Amino acid sequence: MSKKDYYESLGISKDASKEEIKKAYKKLAKKYHPDLNKGDPKSADKFKEINEAASVLTDDKKRANYDRFGTADEQFQGFGGGSGFDGFGGFGGGDFGGFEDIFESFFGGGGRRSRKKRGGPIPGDDLRFSMTITLNDAYEGIEKEIRYNRLGTCTTCKGKGAENPDDIETCEMCGGAGQVTQAQRTPFGVFQTTKTCPTCRGEGRTIKNPCKTCQGDGRVDEKKTLKVDIPAGIDEGQSLRINNEGDAGIKGGSYGDLYVQISIKTHKIFERHGRDLYMEMPISITQAAIGGTIEVPTMKGKSTLKIPSGTQSDTVFRMKDKGFPTIGGSARGSQMVKVIVEIPTTLNKKQKELLEEFEKASESPQKKFFDKIKNMF
Ligand SMILES: [Zn+2]
Ligand SMILES: [Zn+2]
Repeated sequence: MSKKDYYESLGISKDASKEEIKKAYKKLAKKYHPDLNKGDPKSADKFKEINEAASVLTDDKKRANYDRFGTADEQFQGFGGGSGFDGFGGFGGGDFGGFEDIFESFFGGGGRRSRKKRGGPIPGDDLRFSMTITLNDAYEGIEKEIRYNRLGTCTTCKGKGAENPDDIETCEMCGGAGQVTQAQRTPFGVFQTTKTCPTCRGEGRTIKNPCKTCQGDGRVDEKKTLKVDIPAGIDEGQSLRINNEGDAGIKGGSYGDLYVQISIKTHKIFERHGRDLYMEMPISITQAAIGGTIEVPTMKGKSTLKIPSGTQSDTVFRMKDKGFPTIGGSARGSQMVKVIVEIPTTLNKKQKELLEEFEKASESPQKKFFDKIKNMF
């Protein structure tokens, strides 16, 4: 590992600034993060490599050492990424919480989630609410009221966990840091593992007389009712983020967000593909042959569609601007109408006579066919 060119690993020049290094690292870490590349050992190796490179190059001392001697220091020889900073142990866990934590433990800032500092305020969790709406709701946009449970700030202690501020003490075990570090000797050297403080469970404080309402957590179960504006044009699987409507944070940490995830019910007539709507419309053999104007349902009531003479079954016509809008935009998609020519399955006497009359006046398709292929025999 130590033979690797750290600058090359991150795709940066030898005189790259710290900002450039961080930027390059973040980009690559997103690309090679094990959570996004499950079961790909190459990505895992690459991930270790860039972590090692970034951890050295963002540390002035180590970088100088590396530039001069080609190595950061003894600690970094022989294994990648696992030392010097925490949070890399258990990747592959399958959730992005860990992913964000890496950035946080690495650079200590930036981004919403990264505000979390061990021992300091801890932001509340984001919550997800699944909502099923009709295609019409998605077409028009709608306001919906939702009810859900979340952890809200305890009103008795105002989220502090104790009614009397004097009852809150800095955790003796971790000195308020919220985590404890242990050194472990292995054949590869000394590994430092950092884990959440068991005494204060990462909070960095202990409470002598916890608030009776929330048992010291500072948060209580809360039933929330919320009006959600669903914009016209929303699509299946899209989520609306509603700021600060998730769980309350701990120790003055910010509220998490609420994500309302949208599912759209299958429509009896319309099928949606992006901004376009697809549907099938039956027409008679006479309409297909002679042409004419037919009535077609749209999301906004009936409309008309011109059918040219000689229209074959399964022909698709486009009705412009009858499709879905883009969210917040004015452009609309189209409604695609596939016409299905209906062959009558029963005929009354009159219809039969008329069709026989028509047949007499027509050239037989079989005759036309044999004329076309006569040279083949
Ligand atoms: Zn309380
Ligand atoms: Zn502690």
